[in-house]
Amino acid sequence: MRIMLRGILWFGFYLFLVVLPLVTALVFRPARNSPSLLVEIAVAAGFVGFALMALEFALISRVKGAAGAFGEDSLQLFHNLMGVVALGFILAHPLLLFVHGYPLGCWLNPWAACANQTTATAALALYAVLLLVVTSLWRKKLRLKYETWQIIHGVLALVAVLGALVHFFTIGRYTTTNALRIVWVVYSTVFVYLIVWNRLLKPIVHWRRPWQVVENRVERGDSRTLVIKPVGHVGFDFEPGQFAWIKMGRTPFTIGQHPISISSAADVPPGGEVAFTIKNLGDWSGQRVPAVQPGETMWLDGPHGVFSSDRKQGMGYVLIGGGVGITPLYSMAQTIAARGDVRPVYLFYGSRYWDDVTFREELEALQERMNLHVIHVLSAPHEGWTGEVGYVSQEVLSRHLPAQYKRFVYLICGPDPLMDAMEEALPALGVPPDHVHTERFNMA
Ligand SMILES: Cc1cc2nc3c(=O)[nH]c(=O)nc-3n(C[C@H](O)[C@H](O)[C@H](O)COP(=O)(O)OP(=O)(O)OC[C@H]3O[C@@H](n4cnc5c(N)ncnc54)[C@H](O)[C@@H]3O)c2cc1C
Repeated sequence: MRIMLRGILWFGFYLFLVVLPLVTALVFRPARNSPSLLVEIAVAAGFVGFALMALEFALISRVKGAAGAFGEDSLQLFHNLMGVVALGFILAHPLLLFVHGYPLGCWLNPWAACANQTTATAALALYAVLLLVVTSLWRKKLRLKYETWQIIHGVLALVAVLGALVHFFTIGRYTTTNALRIVWVVYSTVFVYLIVWNRLLKPIVHWRRPWQVVENRVERGDSRTLVIKPVGHVGFDFEPGQFAWIKMGRTPFTIGQHPISISSAADVPPGGEVAFTIKNLGDWSGQRVPAVQPGETMWLDGPHGVFSSDRKQGMGYVLIGGGVGITPLYSMAQTIAARGDVRPVYLFYGSRYWDDVTFREELEALQERMNLHVIHVLSAPHEGWTGEVGYVSQEVLSRHLPAQYKRFVYLICGPDPLMDAMEEALPALGVPPDHVHTERFNMA
């Protein structure tokens, strides 16, 4: 209930920030020489588009309060959706002006004879937003490496917002009164602050908190576990299921960072070790991670995320995982065991081959220490396999869940098909929606 209320408040605040520049412009605009209604609508579309774009930075700036209310992956999805909505408003701005009779050539071609600083910055911002959305929607088709795309995305976003700001200020009409000036100065300051905080101040803070690799061990399922310890600081407190952004390199100013769930138990004593288990899914996880040597330095930004058994209480837990989605669930199971919690935990774990089941032996050992039932589901079982075959499904769940399953808390993490299947299976089984919590690994 409290989380829902926080969600509503955050969303209300977001809407307020989207419409604030528009409302201020309408209320405080200079009365003389009011343009036609169509131009006013075009300007309104531009304002809303700009505010949405500027807020895109805030959505992915890891603001803990907002993430706590919605979940980090939901915020990321919202960020993706709002990018497209912002593009719609931004495109409406020149199109409506064109319908009104503005010479579009001067606005879209910064080299046209009739172009000036106002039109050139508008064109720059418009093209930057277009490229931003195209490279995000079709990154894989364009064969852009994730790391390259991250850099392009940041630069284009900066160009778009700065271009739009210069555009407003050179037009002047909407920056003439004090109220309007205050709104623009506050927006620009917050915007610059978020960039400086994320790109400069945060790395400086992390620089004083290095971590060192203690072990890099091979796991089943083409994965590796990096065990790391804090150096010269106490580390961090985390809830089982949370993740951290990992950076490797000589300084925390390195550009590439990867979100990885903590796979070890929570309640670590000050200075204690934590572990991350990483599956080979691409360049970084397949080449850089296996090459990590004990003694190497790493930088962590975390903990983040609200996908945790600590945040949801029930009669017991049903953990549903597939592939490397097991990592946050394994951390939860270990923590429940370490705390001596006797509530039942049902783990439905989908894998392809028996030999590829990450933490297979560890889970067997854990069953001795806690009330844990592990149900392996293999999509490519070996001969003689007597367990579940195929994928985790409504039928598999019904065969193993105890009678009181509707009072359990469900935590799901795995590949998209598993998540989608569970979104249908659990309501069909009558599990209340507020008992179901998910985390997707493919935010981007
Ligand atoms: C909250 C969260 C927790 C995660 N926990 C784990 C975990 O415990 N173990 C694990 O193996 N994987 C985890 N992942 C996935 C992991 O971040 C990516 O698989 C990893 O970054 C792949 O990088 P790559 O360069 O090797 O692969 P690439 O081939 O470059 O990328 C594969 C895909 O991974 C995603 N990805 C790549 N780099 C990033 C990045 N810097 N930020 C966000 N997404 C990226 C993109 O969708 C990309 O298409 C988690 C992801 C999220 C969002």
